[in-house]
Amino acid sequence: MKKEAGLSTRCIHAGDRRDAKGAIHTPLYNHSTFGFPSTQALLDVVQGRTQGSLYTRYGMNPTIVSVEEKLASIEGAEGSLVFGSGMAAESATFLAHCKTGDHIVCIGDVYGGTFELLSYNLPQLGITTTFLLGDELGRLEEVIHDKTRLVFFETPTNPNMEVFDIAWIAEIAKRRGILTVVDSTFATPVNQHPLALGADLVIHSTTKYMGGHSDLTGGAVIGATERLQPLVVWRKNLGQVMAPEVAFLLSRSLRTLAVRVRAQNQSAAILAERLAKHPRVDHVNYPGLSSHPQHEIAKRQMRGFGGMLSFVFKGDAQTTAVAVDRLRLFSIAPSLGGVESLVTQPITTTHHGLDPAERLRRGIVDGMVRLSVGLEDVEDLWSDLDQALGA
Ligand SMILES: *Cc1c(COP(=O)(O)O)cnc(C)c1O
Repeated sequence: MKKEAGLSTRCIHAGDRRDAKGAIHTPLYNHSTFGFPSTQALLDVVQGRTQGSLYTRYGMNPTIVSVEEKLASIEGAEGSLVFGSGMAAESATFLAHCKTGDHIVCIGDVYGGTFELLSYNLPQLGITTTFLLGDELGRLEEVIHDKTRLVFFETPTNPNMEVFDIAWIAEIAKRRGILTVVDSTFATPVNQHPLALGADLVIHSTTKYMGGHSDLTGGAVIGATERLQPLVVWRKNLGQVMAPEVAFLLSRSLRTLAVRVRAQNQSAAILAERLAKHPRVDHVNYPGLSSHPQHEIAKRQMRGFGGMLSFVFKGDAQTTAVAVDRLRLFSIAPSLGGVESLVTQPITTTHHGLDPAERLRRGIVDGMVRLSVGLEDVEDLWSDLDQALGA
């Protein structure tokens, strides 16, 4: 695959190899181990003189390597490592790049599992985190100290769809000698390339848009080989690798990533505009709307604004739940990024565990509704929303 090929072309062809039978792309090798013609041939692979398959938990499996090449190509990176989940990808990143006594800066609202990992699990190993919300970003330089190893953030965030300036944060981090790690799950490589803006590592929960069909769980870390290398031994010894069956499914899904995400961008933009004018809606959070507080940053660093949006219904927790329950095409479910549209009230799912005062500080009000816009016809989605919200 030539690097300069377009994104759809890379989604389809990068990393794929036909086998001896001519199967049109890389087959599923479910095998845990691989045989060698001689001891010398085995040693050549073990000692790294030749590339080859060896043992699946090490990631040395053709189906796994194939999807890693595809992911690296579509993020414009040197390499990638795939994991059993997005959380496995995150934990390996933190463990590989931080040790006891080290410090992380986490910007903005992050996924609930990430917040728990940083605030509960990692402190048990002596790795601490300073959390800065978006309106505290001016303190970034001040909270970075000599034990700080990395700055981590999502953009856009869940569920406020806050957007952070990747290039600006990466510039500060680089100057202070620390890594910039971006969870780009919501944006996908179709809409945003954090590495090109100066980030060191990109993390995806491939469970979401990359899988795209709500039928696989996985994660990936993507970047330069030098930054990925420390993760290899953690993934191997914590046994975190993505299963070959999942890697095969993920490759299948990535072939349609560009068309899926572009269609989801379009539908979400239409729904965001119509919701913003709906009499029962207080406001809409969508980076593509000119009313969005970071719309200018989004325009600069994103090629599309994504399939996720949230809005605030004019109602309390109960009346909002009644409206949500009236939806027929949108399924009430956590998660996102699939072909089917989903709806959640963040206070009941992603932010259920936070105390009400902390939720309020984060702008997560009782009437907030989050939509993951799927690939159904947009007019059907709008009719459903319109009937559910009521006049
Ligand atoms: C879902 C999600 C994760 C965690 O991914 P899993 O595959 O569920 O482990 C991390 N970050 C973001 C932004 C997510 O949406």
